[in-house]
Amino acid sequence: MSLAGKTAIVTGSNSGIGLGVAEELARAGADVVLNSYTDTDDDHALAERIAKDHGVTARYIQADLSKGDQARALVEKAGRCDILVNNAGIQHVASIEEFPTEKWDAIIAIMLTSAFHTTAAALPMMRDAGWGRIVNIASAHGLRASPYKGAYVAAKHGVVGFTKVTALETAKEPITANAVCPGYVLTPLVESQIPDTMKKYDMDRETALNEVILTRQPSREFATTEQLGGTVVFLCSDAAAQITGTTISVDGGWTAM
Ligand code: NAD
Repeated sequence: MSLAGKTAIVTGSNSGIGLGVAEELARAGADVVLNSYTDTDDDHALAERIAKDHGVTARYIQADLSKGDQARALVEKAGRCDILVNNAGIQHVASIEEFPTEKWDAIIAIMLTSAFHTTAAALPMMRDAGWGRIVNIASAHGLRASPYKGAYVAAKHGVVGFTKVTALETAKEPITANAVCPGYVLTPLVESQIPDTMKKYDMDRETALNEVILTRQPSREFATTEQLGGTVVFLCSDAAAQITGTTISVDGGWTAM
């Protein structure tokens, strides 16, 4: 399949899953807009590398998605948005009583509220183009809970709900909205949780990965950023034109339990 002629905006795409998704969309022929809150030479070099590797146009646009006006400006600056992938995210792990309010606010703003702003800015562009695909990167934590991840679980359940509303509001148009729900993927977001887990359980890295982190994932394997990218490309294909308002789990069986 080819996504040539389509422009995809992937939020939070200078790392991890977002980068994997941007790469697979570019491989399928889409022009891509990369984003994060930083604005470094490396960020722009990443876009140049993707453009060169896949023969597409790739741009890097800085926007701090904790700010609603910057989230909307990202879409406006891109100028066109056929495919919107809301992916940017952060994590903080603490009990409810000890959860810092600023961390709660940041997680909800970056992972849930930003999707509202980018979607609101992108829908008119999709309607003008007569085609659109919205893919929200939620999580197994959009369908299941874990202790000490209150803000993350609340934001991801919110993303799943907002995806359903987006699908209903666009149901009669050639626009779909779905949520992809990854289990564990070995990205910097998960790497940052490994040292605390090793310390808490007094384990080496391998044991902490296999006996704590991956216990929720029956396959006992991490999903890969390429697999997540491939799932997004599928949702942009003609085969997925009637798939809307639903979740697709890429979680090695986590949510089967
Ligand atoms: P990551 O840390 O590698 O990537 C997160 C991206 O979000 C980065 O590009 C970062 O720069 C960007 N970002 C953070 N704050 C931002 C802000 N204020 N404005 C703009 N961009 C910002 O992590 P990842 O694992 O690739 O996570 C990507 C998404 O996948 C997140 O929504 C995460 O919740 C979700 N997810 C990850 C896993 C996993 O196991 N890694 C599992 C389920 C869901």
